Amino acid sequence: MKASRVIDLLNSKETGIEVSVKGWVRTKRGNKQVAFIAINDGSIIHSIQAVADLGKFDEETLKQVTTGACISVSGTLVPSQGQGQKVEIQADSIEILGAADESYPLQKKGHSMEFLREIAHLRPRTNTFGAVFRLRHHMSFAIHKYFNDRGFFYLHSPIITGSDAEGAGEMFRVTTLDLNNIPRDENGDINFKEDFFGKSTNLTVSGQLEGELAAMALGQVYTFGPTFRAENSNTPRHLAEFWMIEPEMAFYDIKDNMDLAEDFLKYLVSYALEYGMEDLEFLNNQYDKELINRLKFVVENPFERLTYTKAVDVLMASGKKFEFPISWGTDLQKEHENYLVEHFKRPVILTDYPKAIKAFYMKQNDDENTVRAMDILFPWIGEIIGGSQREENYEKLQRRIKEMHIPEEELWWYLDTRKYGACVHSGFGLGFERLMLFITGMTNIRDVIPFPRTPKNAEF
Ligand code: ATP
Ligand code: MN
Repeated sequence: MKASRVIDLLNSKETGIEVSVKGWVRTKRGNKQVAFIAINDGSIIHSIQAVADLGKFDEETLKQVTTGACISVSGTLVPSQGQGQKVEIQADSIEILGAADESYPLQKKGHSMEFLREIAHLRPRTNTFGAVFRLRHHMSFAIHKYFNDRGFFYLHSPIITGSDAEGAGEMFRVTTLDLNNIPRDENGDINFKEDFFGKSTNLTVSGQLEGELAAMALGQVYTFGPTFRAENSNTPRHLAEFWMIEPEMAFYDIKDNMDLAEDFLKYLVSYALEYGMEDLEFLNNQYDKELINRLKFVVENPFERLTYTKAVDVLMASGKKFEFPISWGTDLQKEHENYLVEHFKRPVILTDYPKAIKAFYMKQNDDENTVRAMDILFPWIGEIIGGSQREENYEKLQRRIKEMHIPEEELWWYLDTRKYGACVHSGFGLGFERLMLFITGMTNIRDVIPFPRTPKNAEF
């Protein structure tokens, strides 16, 4: 008989039918007559209970039904006598597909998140990580669906990049040079002409620049891929390898950009509420009783929109003593972002930042001091989206590149788009794991990606 998934059995309208299921034993308990075996196959947070009359099974088999073992059970699906489930399986046969050694580290009692990170190869088998990774899947799918439904095209931007225009000093080098025998040029510098690509290359920090090129041809595009930052910031919100969603749109100004970003985030949160509710309920009950309320609040309320300058006024007027003192021109720290979100009691979109603290490609305002940036700040997370209207004027862009000492020759292809049919356009970047922090209520970004990459950590 073909095995059914646990989700289909638990939702079955029919009982009295012969079924079979394959999965991993979560618990086994019982008495002298029967054993109750909870089997989970990852299809849903709940396990299905199999009831085995001890008279029917040999001791050897039942001894191997231990937490962590992989088994196959066949029997009759019947209405459950016990509480907590509608149906259960009255077992006729049990096959041990893979026994679990006694050293299996996941026992029923709760383990700390720190401990579970040390066994990242097994933590998907816990209820918590099952829930997180199922929600991660739902969100990935929802992202593609959102853009596809609106006529955006999915663009694959490169992972290896030859330009370090955006994040100099924070990139991971890609090389095939022999580190024990580095070729030098006549000045004694590393001779990248001998490297694989004949030039210095790195892992990308963003797909935006390539996204812009494509938007100048396909109109509306988005990237969704891994990005890498060698920033040595050991925080609960930074990874060295994380996934980013970057839409780029021709003919969008900053207002259109904000509208899209707000609509997009609300769509994703409501999608989670619609398709991931059982997992959300588990996380809500287990960790954070406000989680679902917070998600609903975001969907139902407009985001607050104000300029950076006004936000600084609010912060200065607060009378609060911040660890990092605030004044016009300084970059906002997490404490400032948190204050603003709490002050307005909702997500906040800040615009028109000082140009000195933002990237070269942002559209310059007429005041000469600010650029048309927009960052979205979320409760708990702080910055979840960073975006802007892009500078489409060739001369202004070139001037800014010079001012910021960015090697212009590396960006000739980017500048070309401002020479050939430039137009108003905008885009933003959503950090996927920041979104997942918000959706799941997890407090550390290491717990929303299957195998986190952080300083001194790349075990699995
Ligand atoms: P932060 O100030 O929080 O470090 P940033 O200004 O460096 O963020 P951007 O360069 O604007 O961020 O990147 C776009 C988005 O990518 C951010 O809004 C955030 O959601 C996400 N992000 C940035 N850095 C990281 C990281 N190291 N790990 C996970 N997500 C990140
Ligand atoms: Mn950063």
